[in-house]
Amino acid sequence: MKYQAPRGTRDILPDESWKWQRVEEVFRETAARFGYREIRTPVFEETELFARGIGDSTDIVRKEMYTFADRKGRSLTLRPEGTAGVVRSYVEHSMGHGGRATKLFYFCPMFRYEWPQAGRYRQFWQWGLESLGSLSPAVDAEIIHFSVSLFAALGIRGTEARVNSAGCRECAPTYNELLRERLASRLPSFCEDCRVRYERNPRRMFDCKNAACLEVLRDAPSILESLCDGCRDHFDRVQAYLARMSVPFRVDTSLARGLDYYTKTVFEVHYAGLGAQSALCGGGRYDQLVEEIGGAATPACGVSAGVERLLTALESEGALPATEPRPAVVVVWMGSAASLAGASLAAALRELMSVEMDYQERGLKAQLRDAARLGARFALILGEDEVARGIAVVKDMQTGEQEAFPVGAVVGEIERRLAKS
Ligand code: AMP
Repeated sequence: MKYQAPRGTRDILPDESWKWQRVEEVFRETAARFGYREIRTPVFEETELFARGIGDSTDIVRKEMYTFADRKGRSLTLRPEGTAGVVRSYVEHSMGHGGRATKLFYFCPMFRYEWPQAGRYRQFWQWGLESLGSLSPAVDAEIIHFSVSLFAALGIRGTEARVNSAGCRECAPTYNELLRERLASRLPSFCEDCRVRYERNPRRMFDCKNAACLEVLRDAPSILESLCDGCRDHFDRVQAYLARMSVPFRVDTSLARGLDYYTKTVFEVHYAGLGAQSALCGGGRYDQLVEEIGGAATPACGVSAGVERLLTALESEGALPATEPRPAVVVVWMGSAASLAGASLAAALRELMSVEMDYQERGLKAQLRDAARLGARFALILGEDEVARGIAVVKDMQTGEQEAFPVGAVVGEIERRLAKS
């Protein structure tokens, strides 16, 4: 019996995991610059939370949730996205008390039962931000600015923010009616999914991945014509903030986002290098969700994004360093006495730098080849003869020069040479 990772999941092996660390590091630095703090919520929540929070008409809730009954028969679901759990936690811990907006970030795995295909997994990673407690359009602009800044900090050039408004409880239904009216005669041209969306929530039709459906939707009315005064004003002010903050953006009235909870601002940041599915992140304002989940009415805005897709963009942009970090020193040894002396030197050096050592008892040549392959800066060579004389040979792997030093002087010597180079 050979086990394999479950369908739609994969291992992130060491040759790749350093890239993930780099993305997470830059994300955390950027989050700190913008004043967001980390929240870690459970991997699973009550199923009802997602059904309420994400919306019954979404593909996620209809088709993609990993739902199971626990031993007591409670229905639980592996989180398919981050916001519902964060909002649940915000309400549970009364984080809103204190007057300031609560600014949170997460970086963690999500689970969706999707057909595995290029770039789509059943376990995948997302980063996200949520800012809860302020109605100000400056918050929406801050989150869009964060997203653009993060991609720039990672070395992705030429991203474009696209913004739209989803309206609110007052004006969104007017738009839904208008859409239904205008699309009624074209209904037979849409796919089966879109016909369901038409009944439940016609704006979801813009999320369709089917080119024929999108073609028909080109003639659909723009939501901007249906916005109420409050939403119109909010949208204008978000744009004014973005312009003053020099964040490049354009208005895209076909932008709908796949989740039901958005009100007012919705946005995506796109990167042309990704092809058809070019969105690097997406988000927006969700002023009703906290109340929906049982908290006090609290305006909020957030963004989330897939990490796998971000890595694909980084690779196509050549924005990741070609190799992972290299050891400063590889300890090369022959014979058991040298092994002890080598382990002792490695232990001392590891207080200061990265050190590798051979554990296979291979020959000197093989060990030196390995040191070169690992890209080590120095090899520290110890044979029976060196141990007997109380010395060790430091080999500079760039110049090939070798020099012997008393064992007690080796750590200082390597430190001195590294500081110089
Ligand atoms: P959504 O929450 O559906 O708006 O998805 C946000 C982002 O998460 C997408 O743009 C993808 O980058 C990523 N994503 C969503 N589903 C998957 C999946 N099954 N596999 C990998 N990435 C995903």
